[in-house]
Amino acid sequence: MKRLVYLVMLVGLGVVVFGDVPAAYVFAPVMGYAIFRVGQASFSSLREGASYIPDGPPVPVDPARERIIYWCAGCGAEVLLLVRGTESAPRHCGEKMTERAEIARQA
Ligand SMILES: [Zn+2]
Repeated sequence: MKRLVYLVMLVGLGVVVFGDVPAAYVFAPVMGYAIFRVGQASFSSLREGASYIPDGPPVPVDPARERIIYWCAGCGAEVLLLVRGTESAPRHCGEKMTERAEIARQA
């Protein structure tokens, strides 16, 4: 499909340069196609979902061995992770929270 688009653009450029057709008649469909592709790409990224959607079932975290705390740099809120649903950090105040892991010493 990309080769066809490039071929059509090349033929259009040739028609404008060597022919007697105004450039607007040739490049308007090309611009329409470009706008269509940008919109299609934007909506397909929304359809496929964001990266925070978990890959598998949630995994419980044992707070006796490992404490994972997320800290918000905006307001200072802290969140203790009990069940991990995804690897990415949660968001608070519009930004990703900072992860801090405290691992218990093995006695
Ligand atoms: Zn916050």
